[in-house]
Amino acid sequence: MKFDVVIGGAGLAGSTAARVFADAGKKVLVVEKHRHVAGHCHDFRDDAGITVHTYGPHIFHTNDKGVWEFVRRFTDFHYLQHRVLSYAGGKLVPFPVNRDTINEVFGVNIATGDVSAFLQAEVERSKFNMPLRNFRDAVVSQVGERLYELFFKNYTLKQWGRDPETLSPEIAKRIPVRSNRDDRYFSDRYQGVPGRGYTRMVENMLDHPGIAVMLGADYFDAIKSFAAPLSIFTGELDVYFGRKHGELAYRSLDIEFETLDRERFQEAPVVNYPNDYDWTRITEFKLLSGETSKKTTVCYEYPKEKGEPYYVVMDDENMAKREKYIAETRILEERPLGAGKVLFVGRLAEYTYYNMDQVIGATMKKVLPLVQ
Ligand SMILES: Cc1cc2nc3c(=O)[nH]c(=O)nc-3n(C[C@H](O)[C@H](O)[C@H](O)COP(=O)(O)OP(=O)(O)OC[C@H]3O[C@@H](n4cnc5c(N)ncnc54)[C@H](O)[C@@H]3O)c2cc1C
Repeated sequence: MKFDVVIGGAGLAGSTAARVFADAGKKVLVVEKHRHVAGHCHDFRDDAGITVHTYGPHIFHTNDKGVWEFVRRFTDFHYLQHRVLSYAGGKLVPFPVNRDTINEVFGVNIATGDVSAFLQAEVERSKFNMPLRNFRDAVVSQVGERLYELFFKNYTLKQWGRDPETLSPEIAKRIPVRSNRDDRYFSDRYQGVPGRGYTRMVENMLDHPGIAVMLGADYFDAIKSFAAPLSIFTGELDVYFGRKHGELAYRSLDIEFETLDRERFQEAPVVNYPNDYDWTRITEFKLLSGETSKKTTVCYEYPKEKGEPYYVVMDDENMAKREKYIAETRILEERPLGAGKVLFVGRLAEYTYYNMDQVIGATMKKVLPLVQ
């Protein structure tokens, strides 16, 4: 059988690319090494009838209308404005830091209009490097040392197993700080979780007469048997190149699921534990999906050094290796069709922290010019 495109990986990157090519009349083979599609946003219904996320909680959020319209072709959504609480100093307080967080942790009663001045005073009495050199600098420059110590320092130590002063300031750009009472975790215009789960959404993306899917199969074997004018790789960047510039590090997680014989466990879908216990956070899935059940399922996340690749490690050493690999990908990406052209898309193949909408957007940006 002849294919126009062979794709390694049936996560969001691979499935988006497959669908775009299939919609344009191309024959596509998707090869996935796991026995399930959807990659890291895989989910399934557990014995309590609750949809749980295999690789940790996933909330879809985007400001990109094109991406939102694309995913809505394949699923309805349970609309959800995601909220997170943080267990800090013996209290559950809103996170990201907002006016209520400050009032509760410092026992003050400042008004919305005074939050910026309060944070500014916190920042001014703190010491940090300018220009920002590391994660600590990035956070302290936004909220000051006291809030950094309470919410970020130990959480980061748990999450990354590294001193925050050795991590890139880029990571802290993802932390929103609010001067009002907005307690939503994300402020994107479109938010929710797929009504029948991410796995079903991705299955629907791949459900096209032009797409064949091989599960439990390896891309590197498949491209030997199914030569195609174009291939797309969404797996690990360093693995593609035989780790010739060294191994790229990932932070991993142990995720422990527990089903409890009670209707409700906690006060928010996600509760962070920056300072107490060994887990970083607990998620109660029915509060994400809106499902009802006499039982409830939660998961505890324990960060660890090795295992399933979850988070890219943005330190200088890894970023320098990444640059070398990305230079190699450019050569393959620029080749003409039929002459060994390969595209690299997604969080593993680009060694970049991407949210789901960013993966879809980045994939479309690379593949759409080839079908127009
Ligand atoms: C704990 C956690 C929570 C997250 N929460 C959110 C969230 O709330 N909201 C959000 O927007 N994003 C979230 N994300 C990010 C989200 O998971 C990713 O952006 C997205 O799933 C990445 O899609 P992908 O296709 O690039 O990669 P993946 O989902 O990893 O897919 C790559 C696929 O390629 C396959 N593969 C690799 N090598 C080979 C090979 N040689 N042969 C065949 N197949 C191969 C893999 O098995 C995998 O299925 C979270 C990530 C994590 C880790």
